[in-house]
This record gives sequence, C-alpha cells and structure tokens, in this order.
Amino acid sequence: MLLLDLVRLSREGSLRIEGQIPPDDPLWEGTGIRLKEPLRVDLRANETQGGEIVVRGKVFGALAQECRRCLDPVDIPLREEVTLVFAPPESVEGNEDGEIRALPEGDKEVDLAEPIREEIVLSAPAFVLCEPDCKGLCPYCGTDLNETTCECVVDEPDPRWDTLRALKKE
Ligand SMILES: [Zn+2]
Ligand SMILES: [Zn+2]
Repeated sequence: MLLLDLVRLSREGSLRIEGQIPPDDPLWEGTGIRLKEPLRVDLRANETQGGEIVVRGKVFGALAQECRRCLDPVDIPLREEVTLVFAPPESVEGNEDGEIRALPEGDKEVDLAEPIREEIVLSAPAFVLCEPDCKGLCPYCGTDLNETTCECVVDEPDPRWDTLRALKKE
C-alpha cells in the first residue's frame, strides 16, 4: 500500500510520497514481475486548479529475471519516471484511454501501489538474455553450452545430401 492522503493534499497543495514495495508483496502476484530488492518510490503529488491530481516522480529497484536461453539469473536495473494523473470520476468519463485515472469516489485516500504496478509491468522487458550471444542449454541433455560442450550428436541428416544420394543410386 502506498497511500496518498487526499485530505492533506488539498490542505497543503503538494505532498511528497515516499515508500517501498517489497518483492513479496501480493501486489506482484500473477504479474510475472520478480523484484530483486524492494521497489523504492519517490513521488510528489500536486493538486491542479481543475481538481486533477498529478503525481510525478521516480521508482527504482532491480528486477530478478531469467535468461530466456540458459535460465541464468539476470538482474535488470529498474529506473522509471512515472506520471500518474487522477481526476474526479465525472471528468474522466469519455476520456477512457487509460491516461487519466478516476479518483475513488468518497475515499480520502488513493492507493498508488496499483497504478505503479501497471507502470512496472508495462516497462519490464519481455525477453531477457544474460549475454546477447548466449548459447543457451542443449535441448537434449540440458548442458549449459556457455560453460561446456556436450556429447549429444544432433543426428539430423542434412537435406542437401539427399539429392547427392539419389544421384549415386542411379
Ligand atoms: Zn543465458
Ligand atoms: Zn547435450
């Protein structure tokens, strides 16, 4: 939970929100996101004249990913600038492209953890490699081909020889 206190915000006009979201927070369940360390959040919320709330700042941490070829752990530094805009529900209507979020009606707090999760999910790389030329694992014995070679003979006849063989038989 990363709560923005709306009462305090409207009194003070601007508010800093600092916090952390731990790697084992249920927030990440089902997102495929695995954090190496707590995600640190440093945001500032401002209320505009039109009643919108603009929250801007940084989130930083590290993702614990896996190489898609060899499954080695790969840490991806994470540093995102985020901008979240909230508006009263009536003014968000008809503007549902997802850029502006509706303020919860009647609530005195907004949970920023959820929108931040969305930003992280969107920015996380889908395809991670430990090295651009990672050789991956042998599909037969699972040997890490970056470290050693294996004895698996990939015994697929080269189709180019078929023509030659056919010629010889004649
Ligand atoms: Zn790899
Ligand atoms: Zn092998």
